Amino acid sequence: MMINIENKTRSFQKDDVNEFSSYLEKALALLISKEYIDPALSGSDAEISVDVRLVGEDAIRKLNAEYREKDRVTDVLSFPILDMMDGRLSEKLMPYDFTYLEEKKLLPIGDVVICPEKARKQAEEYGHSMLREMVFLAVHSFLHLLGFDHENGRDEGIMFSKQDEIMNEIGLPRSSDVLPASDDEHPVGEMLAHCGYCALVGRPNVGKSTLLNTISGMKLAIVSHKPQTTRNNIQAIYNRDDAQVIFVDTPGIHKPQSKLSEFMVDSSFRAAKGADVVVLMADGRFEKPASVEIRAAEMAKKLKKPMILAVNKADAVSKESLLPLIANYSKIAEFSDIVPISALKDDGVDELMNAIIRLLPSQPRYFPIEEVTDQSEREISSELIREQILHYTNEEIPHGTAVEIDSFEEVLKDDALDSYDRSLIRIHASIICEKDSHKSILLGRNGQMIKRIGTAARENIEKMTECKVFLDLHVKVRKDWKNRQVFLDEFGYKKKDD
Ligand code: GDP
Ligand code: MG
Repeated sequence: MMINIENKTRSFQKDDVNEFSSYLEKALALLISKEYIDPALSGSDAEISVDVRLVGEDAIRKLNAEYREKDRVTDVLSFPILDMMDGRLSEKLMPYDFTYLEEKKLLPIGDVVICPEKARKQAEEYGHSMLREMVFLAVHSFLHLLGFDHENGRDEGIMFSKQDEIMNEIGLPRSSDVLPASDDEHPVGEMLAHCGYCALVGRPNVGKSTLLNTISGMKLAIVSHKPQTTRNNIQAIYNRDDAQVIFVDTPGIHKPQSKLSEFMVDSSFRAAKGADVVVLMADGRFEKPASVEIRAAEMAKKLKKPMILAVNKADAVSKESLLPLIANYSKIAEFSDIVPISALKDDGVDELMNAIIRLLPSQPRYFPIEEVTDQSEREISSELIREQILHYTNEEIPHGTAVEIDSFEEVLKDDALDSYDRSLIRIHASIICEKDSHKSILLGRNGQMIKRIGTAARENIEKMTECKVFLDLHVKVRKDWKNRQVFLDEFGYKKKDD
């Protein structure tokens, strides 16, 4: 048995790879010994060999485009070498099926490509360890190499039961709570804390992103004086010795006007549904709740979630003027707490955190303590580019622009000892807008505008990645993209199935 793992990513570290590798050897040995596998494989005098490559999202997207004509990031791809069907060889093994490595005679059965970034997301979704997800994907792929196939509807059940059987036998059953390898280094992660999800809801411009930035002390969501800058639900994770709060920044609640706005309302709702606590943020400058706040309060009530009222921008108003506001809001809902804050000046934020933490259940942390956001560098890069578009252009360029990262390529140093040593990140990105006139504004005279946007965005991406960045921007026009779900999907405004 020989499993060669080549790790081209940073999401999976050396120790993880060793543990992963030992599980794969066990799994493959077991699999080959099964009665449904051609005895020619186990009976051969050669060692069965498989190459497993761990790659980033861009790489697997490219492979999908090239080999399956699907421009998508998938979790795993299998490239069988032998012609097999349901575990049986279609033809006898021939001399050319074997290769030699030094003294060893090998029988390569195929290549497996896995995307750990995607696996991590899936593991979180299913609530099991990253390791289990990675091993599961590999086992799934081994079955493909051995001629089992679920595409075209064939064999789906058989394949699933075999996968489960192998996973159970190697000690990674479905229900197992094997902690991710990285947790070993963080004993705090295993201690109980008040921990849970908090949905931050409120109208655009009320200060949600500012609060998240204050809380995490780091630039996470994008702050802008223009409403609705925050498009995706960004999770900021607040850690304290006794608590962990995972924030879901919602894009704001307002009346649907286009598919994009519908999506935003939708995602506020979704965020609240999965949360332990809802924080409704109100603007201290407006005494009365408007329909958006009333809707948010109704939503929390309907979902039976405890709700805290955070009255933001308290720095901009007098203390007395908050009293009528509090009285008015108390009429629309029963708040567990009402906390005046200034997200900008970091006033009252500790009190707000205490109020949230009091409502969270005591349980192990969801995330290892150093994780700050669930977004990948790629996703944050696209947000950082968008931020500069909003900064350098004004009202003429509406919120109808999206940024798509076409490729994100990490160049390793020549003498890199591990995959963390990057010398350069090369990013190609497209700015998608709705009109030709927007395109010319974005380009600017002699391309000056796009140059400025690019330079500023590049500097911020370099700060975030701590690496030199080459950024290439293109402007594309796609008319009416806001109303076309295909494009929404393509640009990452994904609707998850509940
Ligand atoms: P979001 O749309 O809810 O995410 O709002 P942002 O966080 O982007 O904030 C919108 C604007 O309100 C920005 O210009 C902030 O600087 C400003 N802002 C946010 N919090 C406060 C605050 O506590 N006091 C004052 N005076 N302004 C604030
Ligand atoms: Mg925001």
